[in-house]
Amino acid sequence: MDTATLATDLLDLTLADALEALKAKKISATELTEAYITAMEGGRALNAYTTETPDKAREMAKASDARLAKGEAGLLEGIPLGIKELFCTEGVETNAGSKILKGFVPPYESTVTQNLWDAGAVMLGKLNMDEFAMGSSNETSAFGPVANPWRAQGSNGTFTPGGSSGGSASAVAGLMCLGATGSDTGGSIRQPAAFTGTVGIKPTYGRCSRFGMVAFASSLDQAGPITRTVKDSALMLQAMCGHDEKDSTSLTAEVPNFAASCGKSIKGMKIGIPKEYRMDGMPAEIETLWSQGIAWLKDAGAEIVDVSLPHTKYALPCYYIIAPAEASSNLARYDGMRFGYRAEGKTLAEVYQNTRSEGFGEEVKRRVMIGTYVLSAGYYDAYYLRALKVRRRIAQDFDEVFKSVDALLTPSTPSAAFQLGERSADPISMYLNDIFTVTGNLAGLPGISVPAGLDAQGLPLGLQVLGRALDEETVFAVGSALERAAGFAAKPEKWW
Ligand code: GLN
Repeated sequence: MDTATLATDLLDLTLADALEALKAKKISATELTEAYITAMEGGRALNAYTTETPDKAREMAKASDARLAKGEAGLLEGIPLGIKELFCTEGVETNAGSKILKGFVPPYESTVTQNLWDAGAVMLGKLNMDEFAMGSSNETSAFGPVANPWRAQGSNGTFTPGGSSGGSASAVAGLMCLGATGSDTGGSIRQPAAFTGTVGIKPTYGRCSRFGMVAFASSLDQAGPITRTVKDSALMLQAMCGHDEKDSTSLTAEVPNFAASCGKSIKGMKIGIPKEYRMDGMPAEIETLWSQGIAWLKDAGAEIVDVSLPHTKYALPCYYIIAPAEASSNLARYDGMRFGYRAEGKTLAEVYQNTRSEGFGEEVKRRVMIGTYVLSAGYYDAYYLRALKVRRRIAQDFDEVFKSVDALLTPSTPSAAFQLGERSADPISMYLNDIFTVTGNLAGLPGISVPAGLDAQGLPLGLQVLGRALDEETVFAVGSALERAAGFAAKPEKWW
């Protein structure tokens, strides 16, 4: 085989396939990593990577090969991954997509990435994202928008890969890594996965340590993987999660073997269809996709049950009070003194002011202002406290339905990917992207997005499975049943 064909074949392997090929010594970690370095460097038009670390990747692959030779393979031995810009990586710039953190090189490693390296994974580089993970299209990044490898049929227009983990989704869909880390505060793993024909899971709040993740809204933020298949997600999540004493919200629960749930029968399982997720004005193709998903699960032996989550309509407004409130507090630390960007000023107050007005982008400033407002004296009770009570109600809705169903099936997003620029001037229409995903964050529940079909323009659409807290196993079982039934094999045509 000539090297070009070999390289393409290597890129076609899923993460699970690659692990087997590595263990069987059919390929080496070095070969695999070289193929991905070439793909990453050839994919710069997508702007998915903000920092490339090929030297580090080669070094890590070499160490992996040495361990493989000794039969000491870790869970992700030799697997090349991309890392979202908000995971602190020791010695490698971590900017969270913001000008205010440009040039910030962390002196320590996040727990999630450390877990991945301990499992033998190889770092290819850092991935672009919406600034501080605030956005749904990757257009709020200070380092330029990311392009979706997918295009609409017969169009040259550039589509968003979604956000905020847009770089992660684009790199996975564009075959520029075998998997990528993402983070999900209101949908930032699941929405980009849906927009790019990839799989994304947000685990139960507390499964992954938040230590070393740049904080957006601490009570909602959760890390998770974006991969090509459900099994790949299970394998990657396995390595990412686990208890960490450096994060007080990290759970001590046992981590089950997630991959063992993939492909498991869902016969007799009860799947709830929440009626409130049938939104007014929802495009017909989303409705059709959802019905298709219901039929697939029925065929696989599941029992479909109509359920009600009555507080769903308050989820988005509730999220857009709580998330900015927490963000305004978390972002107070960026004052030009400790990290990254510092502007000039005649007085200390002026330095603070100039640093923050020049260093933060528009969306971040909007959130800081909303957050400060809802937390201020006189408004705290009316907005923030009220939102916390609504959040509790939303969680109770889920507690109630999970007494009688094992999982819920919903669309992942209310539409397919849109073109860059199409919604950036209208924050409300941008916020609507999260309508089906924020509930999972508010209640702390695990949710997966699985590619399920294409819209009329040939763009991917995803279905979401939500599960009980700490029951990722059911989420993976139902997700892989959907994956099997959908047989989603479409790929973006390479134009970059
Ligand atoms: N799009 C949502 C927001 O802008 C969610 C982002 C996220 O999950 N990080 O807040």
